[in-house]
Amino acid sequence: MPGFEFFGDEERKEVNDVLETGILMRYGFDGPRKGIWKSKELEAAICKTFGTGYAQLTSSGTAALTTAMASFGIGAGDEVIMPAFTFVASFEAVLSMGAVPVLVDIDETLTLNPAAVRAAVTSKTKCIMPVHMCGSMADLDALKAICDEHQLILLEDACQSIGGTYKGKHLGTIGHAGTFSFDFVKMITCGEGGVVMTNDQNIYTKCDAFTDHGHDHLGVDRGADLHPFLGYNFRISELHAAVGLAQIRKLDTFLTIQRRNNHILRSYLEQVPGISFRVVPDPSGDSASFLSWFLPSQEKMEKAIEALKTAGIFAGNFYWYANNWHYIKKWDHLKNVQSLYALNEAQQNALKKLSNTKFEVSDAIMSRCVSTAISLTWTEEQVHAKGAQFLQVLKEALS
Ligand SMILES: *Cc1c(COP(=O)(O)O)cnc(C)c1O
Repeated sequence: MPGFEFFGDEERKEVNDVLETGILMRYGFDGPRKGIWKSKELEAAICKTFGTGYAQLTSSGTAALTTAMASFGIGAGDEVIMPAFTFVASFEAVLSMGAVPVLVDIDETLTLNPAAVRAAVTSKTKCIMPVHMCGSMADLDALKAICDEHQLILLEDACQSIGGTYKGKHLGTIGHAGTFSFDFVKMITCGEGGVVMTNDQNIYTKCDAFTDHGHDHLGVDRGADLHPFLGYNFRISELHAAVGLAQIRKLDTFLTIQRRNNHILRSYLEQVPGISFRVVPDPSGDSASFLSWFLPSQEKMEKAIEALKTAGIFAGNFYWYANNWHYIKKWDHLKNVQSLYALNEAQQNALKKLSNTKFEVSDAIMSRCVSTAISLTWTEEQVHAKGAQFLQVLKEALS
């Protein structure tokens, strides 16, 4: 799955270009930087590779989500609908804007259940945030229809699905805006980093200023820039962008290896009695970074996991249901409002309500689901061996 598995001379060369000039900042210093603009170059490469009009790099994927929401004017009292299975960053970004995260059930796509979204829309809803978890996508047509009907913003958290597509378009470029993360374990890494993608020039201009203290970036003298609105520092550094530039050139290679390994592994798992797989709305667009599979009951899944652990082959597999970071069941800090700073009243009320909300539909899915991470380092031979071993252990455990 992650790009760090392919770190090499290409990344070192790009970083060295920056080290040679010593200009680690992405803005200004036009003379001393001697034409080296890694962040700008990476933004241009992102536009070209993923087919988006504009790209604004940020210091993280969380910062990208925050920046996108700020640029759409999402703030105090506004509600953002998101899935109960995601990474904590999704609701962190919403809370940091003063807005209210509204968590709803998923379906077997492992992300937003359109019926649950529809039921959660209120007069305060401003945005729907599908999270394309584990390399594959949400049912975007259904979610888009809800957004159109209620005039809501569709913000795709595509942080985990770089390279995935839906009906021929890249995930993250289909909604009003979308984000990627380039943190260390993502498909393309910068070490740390993220990006907001949009086709709306006005939104892009706001993102550009927001990530740099509100600088309008219109002049040649940074100190003389105007600040049309309040911003933050969510800038990426040139060193981080340099790594990403080498990585994005390897994306096709990553995807080819990943898909091959995923398909081989699947051909073995398909033979496990009772197994089923995640619903993928556009199977040809799966980035294949994970293979997510279900067993008929929680009891059977627990048995299977025990057997895989005993055989010493569970590493690289994720039982999200019992995971502290990705599923609502373990987010007591959110439900109990364990915040270092005061949240606003609307947020506090919503989180109190959340602590009493049941997610039975999601529980019934997540308690039967394991995602197997697909490594780029596996040779074809190794995947066949892994698949055969998996199949044998699972067959025995479930018989
Ligand atoms: C990684 C991730 C993020 C946040 O990215 P960071 O760069 O680590 O801040 C957001 N959403 C999802 C689904 C992620 O997996």
